[in-house]
Amino acid sequence: MRLIVMGPPGAGKGTQATVVAANLGIPHVSTGDLFRANVGQGSELGLEAKRYMDAGEYVPDSITNAMLRDRITHDDCRPGFLLDGYPRTLDQVNELDMMLAASGQALDRTVELTVDTDEVVERLLKRAQDQGRTDDTAEVIRRRLEVYAEQTAPLTAVYEGRGLLVRVDGLGDVAEVTRRILAALAN
Ligand code: AMP
Repeated sequence: MRLIVMGPPGAGKGTQATVVAANLGIPHVSTGDLFRANVGQGSELGLEAKRYMDAGEYVPDSITNAMLRDRITHDDCRPGFLLDGYPRTLDQVNELDMMLAASGQALDRTVELTVDTDEVVERLLKRAQDQGRTDDTAEVIRRRLEVYAEQTAPLTAVYEGRGLLVRVDGLGDVAEVTRRILAALAN
């Protein structure tokens, strides 16, 4: 199973992606987590990525695509993977298409988690307190939501056009939303 989980910042994407991937027995591949791991290690990629992340902007496609390509060519991704936070731009959609085509693979589904904006801001401010993420300040949250609306929300139309999109209501408790996602995938 090769899946994408999309949704605005604060939609519960990371939480759901972790649980759903474990449930399906496939690796959870989060570009945000990969960037944060690099930031934590103080790698060159991490230092470069942090400048963008802290401003609420996307890391340039060239860096992101190379990092994702490296990750999904690991052996553990052979049976499938769940992508969390990638693709986020049209360029990344095209890159992913090429990466998959090169290895004779195809996407099975794209899940879009939907939530309303007020709820999302509240969740992110709470996460800022709980996890201390440096990109969860009110100002950066606003910018991340704008960037999502401009650059990433339009991608759902691409996957909808391919008949791969399922929309799932992201509002509710974690277990309930997980059930909805798994039910949608079983259809
Ligand atoms: P996330 O954990 O998915 O919310 O990602 C945190 C931050 O990492 C984002 O706000 C971006 O700065 C960066 N990032 C993660 N994934 C991507 C991507 N696919 N393209 C560009 N930037 C990304």
